[in-house]
Amino acid sequence: MTPTALDLSAMRRALVLADAAAAEGDVPVGAVVVDASGTIRGEGRNLREATHDPTAHAEVVALRRAAEALGTWHLAECTLVVTLEPCIMCAGAVLQARVPRVVFGAWDAKAGAAGSMYDVLRDRRLPHRVEVVGGVAEGEASTRLQVTPPAARAAAHPPQSTPAAPHPPQHAHRHAAAHPPQHAHRHAAAPAGADARAGVSAGGAGRPRCRTGRRGRCRAGPAAGNTRGSRRDRAAGRPSRRPGPGCR
Ligand SMILES: [Zn+2]
Repeated sequence: MTPTALDLSAMRRALVLADAAAAEGDVPVGAVVVDASGTIRGEGRNLREATHDPTAHAEVVALRRAAEALGTWHLAECTLVVTLEPCIMCAGAVLQARVPRVVFGAWDAKAGAAGSMYDVLRDRRLPHRVEVVGGVAEGEASTRLQVTPPAARAAAHPPQSTPAAPHPPQHAHRHAAAHPPQHAHRHAAAPAGADARAGVSAGGAGRPRCRTGRRGRCRAGPAAGNTRGSRRDRAAGRPSRRPGPGCR
């Protein structure tokens, strides 16, 4: 894909924003959201150090401001122009905003999610895909990134007085339970007054009921009153695949 004149103009503004980020001690990344006419609707720079916000990447800041300016989260007529290849979080934000096109400067071999490490923006398994134009003004964008501000460098590599635990709390958290909130929600007790169309079946008052409708494949387990697991399931200590009392 070839960048347009509007892309190049927007990239110039993004590079200025990257410089502003560096001046405040952040990693120099800038981003703008432009509409079909090339008008800038939102712009942002990396504000992680300035705001102590781990999600304050330039792309997220620019998308939020564009959505606010346009009065909608649905940025289907816009292009995101950013000086660095979006990370996984920012690529996810692009998909959520339904942005159809992303133009970026430097490739990020360590964490890029637009073709380097991952290709979230063009993943065919996802319902929304994005046109990607990478390597625009790459030299200028890369040069800025080669000089990481001291504050950002210190935050990225804090001094360690004690050896790191092999499995830090985040790791333990991620693997503590598979999707506990969603699972609990999907198998929550049926609200009073709900009818069968909402996936509620007859049962004892106050009993948690399976609302998945996945008869025969329910994994609700004892929490949803499903204690009719097979002998093999009980021996392995895993939830039953059989429909429990709350299942339809
Ligand atoms: Zn990011």
